[in-house]
Amino acid sequence: MSATTTSIPDPKKVGMVSLGCPKALVDSERILTRLRADGYAMSPDYAGADVVLVNTCGFLDSAKEESLQAIGEAIAENGRVIVTGCMGDEADAIRAAHPQVLAVTGAHQYEQVVEAVHEYAPPSQGPYVDLIPQPDLADIKLTPRHYSYLKISEGCNHSCAFCIIPTLRGKLASRRIDAVLREAEKLVAAGTKELLVISQDTSAYGVDTRHDAREWKGREVRAHMTDLARELGQLRTDQGAPPWVRLHYVYPYPHVDQVIPLMAEGLLTPYLDIPFQHAAPSVLKRMKRPANEAKVLERLKSWRDICPDIAVRSSFVVGFPGETEADFEYLLDWLEEAQLDRVGAFRFEPVEGAAANALPDPVPEAVKEERYARIMEATARISAAKLQAKIGRTLPVIIDEVGEPDEDGDIGATGRSQADAPEIDGNVFLRNVSASLVPGDIVDVQVEDADEHDLFGVPSGNI
Ligand code: SF4
Repeated sequence: MSATTTSIPDPKKVGMVSLGCPKALVDSERILTRLRADGYAMSPDYAGADVVLVNTCGFLDSAKEESLQAIGEAIAENGRVIVTGCMGDEADAIRAAHPQVLAVTGAHQYEQVVEAVHEYAPPSQGPYVDLIPQPDLADIKLTPRHYSYLKISEGCNHSCAFCIIPTLRGKLASRRIDAVLREAEKLVAAGTKELLVISQDTSAYGVDTRHDAREWKGREVRAHMTDLARELGQLRTDQGAPPWVRLHYVYPYPHVDQVIPLMAEGLLTPYLDIPFQHAAPSVLKRMKRPANEAKVLERLKSWRDICPDIAVRSSFVVGFPGETEADFEYLLDWLEEAQLDRVGAFRFEPVEGAAANALPDPVPEAVKEERYARIMEATARISAAKLQAKIGRTLPVIIDEVGEPDEDGDIGATGRSQADAPEIDGNVFLRNVSASLVPGDIVDVQVEDADEHDLFGVPSGNI
């Protein structure tokens, strides 16, 4: 008697090109998680994909240009392309440059992107398809397993003159605190050693929901940055240690002071990412920045008194319309006082639709360039001095990558100290590490050398 066999069709494959900020990366992860639950597989390359999603960034003109190029490359390599993300709000511009795109959806339109994938690459059908066990239905992560972005809200209630995020992403919409904490707990249980809390304005978390309180582990917790920080500090990895927890996009509202003691206790990573953007009061006023108050320098000092190792990262815009030489020098003097650990600087660039474009007194390009060079020089000098002061100390370092043994059998590794967020800050380059070291391990490192941005060292057991 011959048995009849029914072949199970291969699942349709989706490729993903994810551009832009960590918030966009989280969106890409959510879309892919949904698609996998619908029976799709992921393709690591263009050739194997039935359809390619390009998650775009539309913030600056340069980012739009990069998005259009990425769409062009995906069309040339694969041909079947669906566009989503921030630039999806400019469907006309995308279609004008690339009429072949199959569909265009905007930021956070998860349903529409998933529908478009179903339309242009219908999921494989077969008598057994729905019964095939999914190998791992955990959420898809595009970051390495040992660190994860934790998005707590969408959108923003401010109206900074140079920014179109509130237009692109809408008003502040905070997630429920119990949902955020559940996600964090799941990520840590799955091997995350470092959580990166992101939003457009982390200090404003819960303002839109009146800090809605929920029950969590028998306690009442509010959707509020301080409650969130305290609860994240209670999590433990499988080694029984608190995961590293970094707060990004924190505006210096008064309640930020309350999280500094948690950093001093080791329950929160001593790191704050505060996008100051400028220091001169007249420029901040024209920028319409939130939490624009004069006492920031005093508060930085008091934070360092409580937690001497706190690292503060920030970004600044030079050449904003109306910025005078005196304003710029005010900023440079402020930076000398503030002694920030990590600084990113940008030349002001008009963004289509931003209120700043209508401001008088644009700064000439040559002046912008000159100010940019001066701020880069000043901040690199401050960073180098701060890193030099770490030589000889022993610091915890999280490992991102372990190399192959060289001809002498020495293995090197790349990691980060608590002062370094992934992708945006510096690295710690290690020599002579153990062959058993793996990404995500946290080791004590003796710092041997430093340059402007990075540290060099050796695990303290191997000196
Ligand atoms: S705080 Fe200002 S810069 Fe940040 S997203 Fe809101 S409007 Fe944009």
